[in-house]
Amino acid sequence: MDGMLESIAGRKDDLVALTRDLIRFPTVNPPGEAYVPCAEFLGRRLQASGFATEFVRGEGAPGDNDYFPRMNVIARREGKSPGPCVHFNSHIDVVEAGDGWTVDPFEGVVRDGRVYGRGACDMKGGLAASVVAVEAFIEAFPDYPGAIEISGTVDEESGGFGGVAYLAKRGYFSHPRVDHVIIPEPLNKDRVCLGHRGVWWAEIETMGEQAHGSMPFLGDCAVRHMGALLAAFEDKLFPALDTRQTRMPVVPEGARRSTLNLNSVHGGQTDDYTGLPSPNVPDSCKLTIDRRFLLEETISDVKGEVIAILDDLKATRPKFDYEIRDIMEVMPLMTEKDAPVASAVAHGIQTIFDREPDYVISPGTYDQKHIARLGHLYDCVAYGPGILDLAHRPDEWVGIEDMIQSAQVMALALHELLFARQR
Ligand SMILES: [Zn+2]
Repeated sequence: MDGMLESIAGRKDDLVALTRDLIRFPTVNPPGEAYVPCAEFLGRRLQASGFATEFVRGEGAPGDNDYFPRMNVIARREGKSPGPCVHFNSHIDVVEAGDGWTVDPFEGVVRDGRVYGRGACDMKGGLAASVVAVEAFIEAFPDYPGAIEISGTVDEESGGFGGVAYLAKRGYFSHPRVDHVIIPEPLNKDRVCLGHRGVWWAEIETMGEQAHGSMPFLGDCAVRHMGALLAAFEDKLFPALDTRQTRMPVVPEGARRSTLNLNSVHGGQTDDYTGLPSPNVPDSCKLTIDRRFLLEETISDVKGEVIAILDDLKATRPKFDYEIRDIMEVMPLMTEKDAPVASAVAHGIQTIFDREPDYVISPGTYDQKHIARLGHLYDCVAYGPGILDLAHRPDEWVGIEDMIQSAQVMALALHELLFARQR
């Protein structure tokens, strides 16, 4: 085992080079640039390590077209005897670079023990670490049982529909093909991420009646009705959510409760004013809400308390009327701490850092949701290098030593999972 860990440490230059190579593909999503060359690059690397590769395009998924095909790569290497399959899944897409960078975001600058670039932390550093971990494991234990898979999937940043969701619907993340999944998202090198909070996105529309803006009393202003709803939210909903704590170990601590974001509100004249006024009383106002909920809450309770406030306004406020449309829902997820993959990663952290890991829950969702809901596979955690707070920010970076240590943890976890039944 020590030989494998030393071998990973000795692969530092290769790990840095692989991370830089991945960063140099500007896989910005949207629109989904450079997916094909990045997937092919990863596929070639894994073919050279004895993996069989499959390229699966998320045909018909949102954003998929011939200019921006949603190209995924799945690589599999069979062991010498039957056994479980461990799958490392990383998304290859990144969010746009944005402003405020002091280095080229797609160059892969190395400085002070860090690799800088868009996606360095989220999550090309984690992908590179998993590849190097697996390669070192194969060299140390060439006769391993079972199978190892590594995938590079797309569109995680936009919901994962052309990536993990597409594949999970087609059995790529289900028994008997796969048994354990590790997602090297940047949750910090000494933490095991067991899952995420739930999400409910909805659009609420208040109705009014159009009239000339100089005589608003002849119409009915939908924006004022929305104002009444927002006031009721301030009054009743936000204080109620603030009190609702969870046993889920969400990080950061502020997210260890129910939250609501008012994502957008719009009514009346368009916000790109052209100099042509439109003096109307608005007959519609739309609000998009982003509600994050907990294992202790059910989706019907979450929706019910918003609808109760709307119905109360309808009963008490003259002419108040509304419609509500669901946009998205994701159930909260928490893998048990004693699940095989969670304890294998925990043991790896214990060995490398000589301490118990922290168990955390992500405040937002990631591709684990599709693996659970569509793949019906629950032995899944997120574990990878990179500091969560750096994701999506200017001058994003990943620590080189962090990548090496987390690769060691991944290789140890892989060993435990594949050899478990033989002990
Ligand atoms: Zn990510």
